[in-house]
Amino acid sequence: MNTKELDNKFVAHSYGRFDVCLSKGKGSTLYDENGKKYIDFGSGIGVTAFGICDDEWVKAVEEQLTKVQHTSNLYYTEPCAQLAELLCEKTGMCKVFFGNSGAEANEGAIKFARKYSFDKYGEGRSTIITLVDSFHGRTITTLAATGQECFHKTFGPFTPGFKYCPANDIEKLNEMITDDVCAIMFECIQGEGGVNNLSTEFVKEIEKIANEKDILMVVDEVQTGNGRTGKYFAYQNFGIKPDIVSTAKGLAGGLPMGAVIFGDKLKDTVTPGSHGSTFGGNPIAAAGAISIVKRLDDDFLIGVSEKSKYIINEISKWKNVESISGMGLMLGILTNKDAGEIAKECLQKGLLVLTAHKNKVRLLPALNISFGELNEGLKILKEVIEK
Ligand SMILES: *Cc1c(COP(=O)(O)O)cnc(C)c1O
Repeated sequence: MNTKELDNKFVAHSYGRFDVCLSKGKGSTLYDENGKKYIDFGSGIGVTAFGICDDEWVKAVEEQLTKVQHTSNLYYTEPCAQLAELLCEKTGMCKVFFGNSGAEANEGAIKFARKYSFDKYGEGRSTIITLVDSFHGRTITTLAATGQECFHKTFGPFTPGFKYCPANDIEKLNEMITDDVCAIMFECIQGEGGVNNLSTEFVKEIEKIANEKDILMVVDEVQTGNGRTGKYFAYQNFGIKPDIVSTAKGLAGGLPMGAVIFGDKLKDTVTPGSHGSTFGGNPIAAAGAISIVKRLDDDFLIGVSEKSKYIINEISKWKNVESISGMGLMLGILTNKDAGEIAKECLQKGLLVLTAHKNKVRLLPALNISFGELNEGLKILKEVIEK
């Protein structure tokens, strides 16, 4: 059996895969098993931040691989400690908890938002407001946190204690602030929910309410983080100071890693035994992450914003394009065509793109994509969208 047949026979069918088996690549260029070339505008859903097999990332991972691959969290290891310091430097926050995925990071964020409130106010103050069309993960609790009805079926009972506010609705948000609320959790740009930008007024209102009522501001930067929007974290575009930030996807450049970053208020909330993860802070993932995070300095991030402007400028001239949303290298294109069909046609012509919410084509290219690759990909995308 070839790979596709084997996979179809033995891998559980939880994904609708595209009809292609990718076998190798470099930067933003991938090849399938038959040697056909693809330009990559998806970076594995925003994960391979510096593309496929980036030299510096490979070197960092290989070096750690020959030192020690895992020790458990009963012991100290250097990459984990150094990565935590780097993340605190990038954010001005003070503590980091490491896990392995976005959902796990959000679980940690939710647990410690509730613990902060429990330690200070006792029981009955555990409700978390999230936004309609948010996406926070696939565990029972993060599905409950996800503000999309389609995710609240089949797997119930879900974790109670979440209520959903329409994004950018300041009046509704204020109505929802009751004495049982301990946190407001949101993505600054909703990714899976359709590449929807939050308004600055709405984000500022969240901050105002949070400060007045000692409600925690929890920002899900799983997709928007690690340079994706042209700042280290997307919240930095809005001038706010969150209490908890969760991140994952691009953090370790293609290795599984998630992190929860805590601000001053929560510096004593995480106590020994209160949370854990066997693989969390794994030395190889952490070494890969360091090689990514340390390169995301101001100069590099200006480059991300410049590429973003370049792409938006090109796409906005195309026929059939109705609007462009997002920020940095996280862009949503609304056209008058079916996004799934566009993605399929692009694949045939040698371009990988993502979709969001059926109607949007979503671009999440590697942050260091070359202008050569960018232009090659845009040429294909233009052909398909304008057809
Ligand atoms: C992808 C994503 C998640 C879930 O991450 P996993 O690593 O798949 O668990 C959570 N929140 C946001 C905003 C995401 O984009």
